Amino acid sequence: MQRPPSPCRFAGPLALGLSLACSPERSVETLSPASGGAPSRAPGLLIFSKTAGYRHASIGKGIAAVSALCEEGGISVTATEHTDLFTDEALRSLAGVVFLSTTGDVLNDAEQAAFERFIERGGAFIGIHAAADTEPDWPFYRSLLGAHFKSHPAIQQAELRNEAQASHPATRPLPKTWQRRDEWYDFDHSPRPIANILLTVDEDSYTGGTMGEDHPIAWTREIGSSRVFYTALGHTEESFEEPLFLEHLRGGIFWALGLPESDTE
Ligand SMILES: [Zn+2]
Repeated sequence: MQRPPSPCRFAGPLALGLSLACSPERSVETLSPASGGAPSRAPGLLIFSKTAGYRHASIGKGIAAVSALCEEGGISVTATEHTDLFTDEALRSLAGVVFLSTTGDVLNDAEQAAFERFIERGGAFIGIHAAADTEPDWPFYRSLLGAHFKSHPAIQQAELRNEAQASHPATRPLPKTWQRRDEWYDFDHSPRPIANILLTVDEDSYTGGTMGEDHPIAWTREIGSSRVFYTALGHTEESFEEPLFLEHLRGGIFWALGLPESDTE
């Protein structure tokens, strides 16, 4: 891709909260693209993977994969298991936050309040897999995500239906029906009334689903000027080596950040 002359090139949703992202002295520690040319400072994405409950073995590969696809797009990435970046000052330098298979109660009250203000300023939120099994007693977070993890059967092959298809960058690269192996989450309720459903999983194609005929498994939301992308896919380490899953992640993350799709091509 072409590197822009200025790192402050993004408009739309990214304009929110990004002014400080272009001030290197305000930046948090970043893993900037190592390849030639001037380093790009914008936008900043935090990958947060603290676990207070079950810890997925795939977290390491997930961090590497998400970091790689973001850096290809000129996105500076910070990966952390610590919560000290959940302050107004640190979050102001970021365009988005990824909860990568976080579990349990990971943020204290002050950190939660800073995150809520980040979303209210238009910050992007991306949840991957166990992000839906995180902070069960935090109403803002449950509401932001749109549904909460309830249960799952054993890891197995299933068929996904691509609902959004060409209408969304997270599904555009995917086939109309997509066979893959993963851990298929059931949720406490369907997010369909409040979300744009990207993918559903066909419960007739595997054993143990409990949501019935309409089983959303990836979706987006737009709340104020904040964009939310959640995918329940990504339990296994192999997921983060699957080209189609990585395209799904790339499309969802870049959409949440308001990046022009041409940057991904
Ligand atoms: Zn899992």
